[in-house]
Amino acid sequence: MNKENTEKQRRLSLNDSFKFSCHKGLACFNKCCSDVNIFLTPYDVLRMRRSMWLSSEEFLKRFTVALLGDEGIPLIALKMLEDENKSCPFVTPEGCMIYQDRPWSCRMYPVFPVSSKEEGFLIDENSSCLGMKEGKEWTIKEWKKNQGIDIYDKMNEAYKEITFHDYFSASGGGNKLDSGRANLLYKACYDLNEFKKFLFETKFFDIYDVEKEVIEKIKQDEEELLNFGYRWIRFNIFNEDTFRFKDKAMDKLLQAKRGKD
Ligand code: SF4
Ligand code: SF4
Repeated sequence: MNKENTEKQRRLSLNDSFKFSCHKGLACFNKCCSDVNIFLTPYDVLRMRRSMWLSSEEFLKRFTVALLGDEGIPLIALKMLEDENKSCPFVTPEGCMIYQDRPWSCRMYPVFPVSSKEEGFLIDENSSCLGMKEGKEWTIKEWKKNQGIDIYDKMNEAYKEITFHDYFSASGGGNKLDSGRANLLYKACYDLNEFKKFLFETKFFDIYDVEKEVIEKIKQDEEELLNFGYRWIRFNIFNEDTFRFKDKAMDKLLQAKRGKD
């Protein structure tokens, strides 16, 4: 974000307020749903593709583009249509067709975080969004509640702990994911149908000692499956003790390799 932009924006904390009301009939209605960069978190992808009854593979192929961040971490962006407005594939004359499952950044709009590392929010009240010129007054806290942000924040926090893990920091070795690890992260975070197949159609549960209740939960509950994916990344990429081998000798060997016995 450049300095000029930041100067135009007002900084808000949780109890600060802003005006906003978005509805059909405004001259700008739907204009903000085109030609926009929207990065999707793993939980955004889960909610959006579930809303459309699509497999993760099909959703990712049809509606997203994958990029690579500096640390080799896959970044997933929503793919705009190739029409003259570069419209979001989910916008209709009536508004968002997946409104109940729209991504985090669409929910938060017109406020957005100062940065992923800093507390606080920004709003650009001089933008062409007419919704900020009228309507109800909200504190950020009220807005987040109204937009059902809590579950998103909870699921995204676990993902943030992965992307800001010490493994990538200068003090932790400044590691970068190779293509194998990047694929593992992509599958465990975004391509959950494939990740589930990997778990249930291999000898995974013969090798790793996973609690029976957890196995049952991840069979039924995709949020639990995603959390399990984060756990797998921690074990496999960050070398954390989030799994144990069923074979005690093997487990001992691993512990010794990590210098923890
Ligand atoms: S009021 Fe703002 S958020 Fe609503 S459609 Fe217009 S530009 Fe978009
Ligand atoms: S997902 Fe919905 S709210 Fe977000 S840009 Fe697309 S149409 Fe607009």
